[in-house]
Amino acid sequence: MSIQTMTIQCQHCHTQEQYKVGHSDSEHTLVEAIDNFHGKTQIQLRSIIKKHHIDKVKFGYALFNCPECQTLYNPYTVEVEYDDIMLFKPFHKCQSCNTTLIRATEAMSTYTCKHCGEHLA
Ligand SMILES: [Zn+2]
Ligand SMILES: [Zn+2]
Repeated sequence: MSIQTMTIQCQHCHTQEQYKVGHSDSEHTLVEAIDNFHGKTQIQLRSIIKKHHIDKVKFGYALFNCPECQTLYNPYTVEVEYDDIMLFKPFHKCQSCNTTLIRATEAMSTYTCKHCGEHLA
């Protein structure tokens, strides 16, 4: 797997935004990369490092959207497989309405532009 970049231009305000998707097998350990994560996610990751056996870590980017306001986000994210069967994925929150984001799977035209609030396409 590798990380791919795509450029999406808003049809309304013409802002071009780069989105990245995909993940890479970690070049860093979770301990080295932990400062990329904040708040509750960082606390949970620290607890996994301390108390559990980590099997595999994948860092990457994914598209998420807010189910309330349909804003598209592209957070840096992580998946941690630990204790043979456990999988940790952090939650991401919408910066405007604080709703927990979900993985964006719809066509781009479903989502709204961070800059002008209009639909992207
Ligand atoms: Zn726009
Ligand atoms: Zn929102």
